[in-house]
Amino acid sequence: MIGRVHSLRDGLGAIRVRLTLWYVLLLALILGGFCTFIYLRMSRDLYSEADALLLDEARGLSTALQLGDESNVTSLLADVPAGTIATVTDMTSGRVLTSQSGSTRALADLRALPAQPVAIASVESLTLAGDASWRVATAPIVMDGQTTWMVRVARSDRDVEAALRQLAVQMAIAIPVVLLVAVASGLFLAGRALDPIDAITRAAAQIGAEDLHRRLAIRGHDEIGRLSATFNGMLNRLEHAFVQQRQFTADASHELRTPLAMLMSQIDITLERPRSPEQYEQALHSMRDDVADLSRLVSELLMLARAEAGQEPLAWDQLDLAQLASDVVSSMQPLACARKVQLVTDCAGHAAIHGDETRLMQLTINLVDNAIKYTPQGGTVTVTTRHEPGWAILDVIDTGPGVEIEQQQRIFERFFRADSARSRGGGAGLGLAISRWIAEAHGGAIRVTCGGAGGSTFSVRLPLAASPESIKSGNATAAIP
Ligand code: ADP
Repeated sequence: MIGRVHSLRDGLGAIRVRLTLWYVLLLALILGGFCTFIYLRMSRDLYSEADALLLDEARGLSTALQLGDESNVTSLLADVPAGTIATVTDMTSGRVLTSQSGSTRALADLRALPAQPVAIASVESLTLAGDASWRVATAPIVMDGQTTWMVRVARSDRDVEAALRQLAVQMAIAIPVVLLVAVASGLFLAGRALDPIDAITRAAAQIGAEDLHRRLAIRGHDEIGRLSATFNGMLNRLEHAFVQQRQFTADASHELRTPLAMLMSQIDITLERPRSPEQYEQALHSMRDDVADLSRLVSELLMLARAEAGQEPLAWDQLDLAQLASDVVSSMQPLACARKVQLVTDCAGHAAIHGDETRLMQLTINLVDNAIKYTPQGGTVTVTTRHEPGWAILDVIDTGPGVEIEQQQRIFERFFRADSARSRGGGAGLGLAISRWIAEAHGGAIRVTCGGAGGSTFSVRLPLAASPESIKSGNATAAIP
């Protein structure tokens, strides 16, 4: 048991780790996607901001040139922001004015670029000063349809690249830290969520056959509370089944012990002294009857046990309940005659049902046999079949002592016998339990009622099936003709 608890707890530990891993994996995917998006967005914004600044710078120079103020252009060129370089090319003379600050190698490269006229101001990426990437804004000054000046302003991508690199480094540090925190909090949360299940598992593993009365404490009305309640419900059913099983075993052994003890004493008495062959024969006959009773009891017990375990299959056939009842009545006439009881039948018309013929015969025989057994000499047993909407009904009516109201439910329990019945030499009290199982296995029911003038009526109700005629004519729901 302890080993089972340990293995269940190990299982829960594995679930806890698995849940955490899933959680961290999903978080890593989300974080990865989010950081990529931020990086790309940041990169686009930084580059377009830098381009806008370059274009502003180029437009400033263009405006000054358009106003024809070259001294202003020279002061603007001297005043370009740090890290920015600029050239202004006179397209008619080929003269080039350059900014004063910035990388001289890059300035030389920018100056050496061919001054082809362009239609509108634009920004492009170029490699200047060896291998560095620069953004270059070009703006033309057009007068009278002629490009007179060409302004170029350039700035290295280094600052933007440095800012992006820094962002990437920060993300590369932050993501693992966040994931580590997620692992810790995931383990903590999964542990908290699984702790109640762990407690249920431990409590459930400790409940054995001997303490099935124990129940789990129900805390709250959440899923865990419902799980505990469901588990307790299962324990209720299990305990009920165990009690029934124990009762069945105790009753069965009690019922078997008495006839076996009688059989033993009969054998002992017979063997006490030598006897004549006739006496041996008589003793053997008597013992044979006892063994036959025992054998019947054992097969009834087996059948009930199999029925309760759902292992007693039924052979389904199309049957006529009226015909079946008439057959049983005919076969039991000799017994009724011997007991001086009148056995009559009133089974006009037929009642089509689906069922197991052997089992339904057994049920009818049980009821008629009881009725004959408990009816005093001169009494009458009447067997009738009738139908109500959807049901075929078999009644076995006798003029015996009847069944007291408080016993009317109990007589269908296993081994139940009224005290008066014991003196009449009835069976072990299994016949009606078997009859109830047969009726219920056919989707029907059985009950007993007693009239004011005494006597009892056992009624069996079974679902009607389509009659043979209606099946032939294709009407599957038709019932009684
Ligand atoms: P048994 O084999 O002892 O008759 P049953 O299960 O058939 O067992 O019946 C259970 C009890 O129901 C009987 O012991 C008897 O007390 C009562 N009983 C059954 N049928 C009748 C009846 N027709 N009239 C009065 N009591 C009956």
